[in-house]
Amino acid sequence: MSNYVLALDQGTSSSRAVLFDGECGVVGMAQNAFRQIFPRPGWVEHDPRDIWNSQLSAARQVLDAHGVAASKIAAIGIANQRETSVLWDRATSQPLMNAIVWQDRRTADHCASLCEQGLQELVREKTGLVIDAYFSATKLKWMLDHIPGARQRAARGELAFGTIDSWLVYKLSGAHVTDASNASRTMLFNITTMQWDRRLLELFDIPASVLPEVVSSSGVIAHTLPELLGGAVPIAGLAGDQQAATFGQACHAPGMAKNTIGTGSFMLMNVGGRPAPSRHRLLSTVGWSRGSEVTHLMEGSAFMAGATLQWLREGLGIVDDVAQVERLAGTVGDADGVVLVPAFSGLGAPHWDPYARGAILGLHRGSTKAHIARAALEGIAYQTVDVLLAMEADAGVKLSELRVDGGGAKNDLLMQLMADALGVPVVRPANIETTALGAAQLAGLGVGLWDSPAELAGLWRAQHRFAPSISDDQRAERILRWREAVRRSMAWEKC
Ligand code: ADP
Repeated sequence: MSNYVLALDQGTSSSRAVLFDGECGVVGMAQNAFRQIFPRPGWVEHDPRDIWNSQLSAARQVLDAHGVAASKIAAIGIANQRETSVLWDRATSQPLMNAIVWQDRRTADHCASLCEQGLQELVREKTGLVIDAYFSATKLKWMLDHIPGARQRAARGELAFGTIDSWLVYKLSGAHVTDASNASRTMLFNITTMQWDRRLLELFDIPASVLPEVVSSSGVIAHTLPELLGGAVPIAGLAGDQQAATFGQACHAPGMAKNTIGTGSFMLMNVGGRPAPSRHRLLSTVGWSRGSEVTHLMEGSAFMAGATLQWLREGLGIVDDVAQVERLAGTVGDADGVVLVPAFSGLGAPHWDPYARGAILGLHRGSTKAHIARAALEGIAYQTVDVLLAMEADAGVKLSELRVDGGGAKNDLLMQLMADALGVPVVRPANIETTALGAAQLAGLGVGLWDSPAELAGLWRAQHRFAPSISDDQRAERILRWREAVRRSMAWEKC
């Protein structure tokens, strides 16, 4: 019987393949890091061939390690880094250039000029997004404008655009598709009509010929080419990584929220069957679709979270491994007045300032690397405060708990600091591979391996609950100091 589900979790730092059994238990995992390319300050690229090769080999590795044949896999689910944009040649499946990654700021000026033209409201109403270089539309336009001959070739129907889900499905099966959760991150997709929006295509000068077909997030989409995994396996789940993690955290009911601390930090709340426009500069985004049934989410993201610790290792060289940050930061009781604002690639929600830059404030002669490490963890925690407050105000609910996952959720000190900063219990599930889990669950539901989200919610288990441990007065004081530090980091690039 085929009752394994294979999740492909294509992240910003690495490609993972996770094999799940019929009870959503992790059977095995393989992971391959790939190259990060920084051609200029503010630019971030990936080679789509690295993404594909690292992902395919992770899939093969986990299947080989556990002796699982393709025939035993009921379905494949894909969760992916979002917004990252690829343009490829349909005939050869060769990318025309490196993928422009979500963190890339090269189109910030273009976005600023669109804002100056007063287009924010139109874009927000149609897409639920704020105009920002983060989303795919201006990245794709940049590619079409800068690759010689690309516009002419696109007009002849020779080129395909896709976010990473589309790229992987294309390489796996030849189908050119995406799901609504990924489409909703392009700034070209209307989240009310659930279709590509003609007016936005005009606005961003994007030919419809390059766009993928939008399919359900759960249900058989295509089959893998048999030579890749030793048999044709149904691809039956597709979702952007954050939406998949929200599903994997069993946030199936309106008002439930999770925060994933990976490269960035992504807080999402289920808002039900209709888009909920934000009045506080959060994003309204599609969670997942199951046939005609759509779940909408509200989202607040920070671009740098776990990546701040990578910077402590690579940029500052104060640790050999990100896992050491917790121990180093734990050697001091507090940051002794040091505040680190991780605005290395601008600030996301609710500030949306592409010109903000990272800042370390409050250094004195007694400050040590331990204080900086602690300030980095506090910075990751405190940047979620404004997001949470905005979310509660928009949704009109007070969170009773925040579910967490991602690489950073392994860090107990960070989790405690986050509970302290937010004043809300932070709950880590037994399985923090929730992105992969969500992709697997969408795929398993799509082939009937599981019956309903309710059945899956019953399998979710908490592993640890971090309760806030500081007083409301202490929290308020720290939030004030944090906000002042954020204010000073803003627009720095323009100074
Ligand atoms: P992504 O899917 O964005 O690649 P992951 O969920 O794999 O992200 O998490 C990777 C991130 O988690 C890295 O930025 C890394 O610095 C961070 N991370 C890993 N281990 C720890 C830890 N012990 N404490 C804090 N952050 C960590």
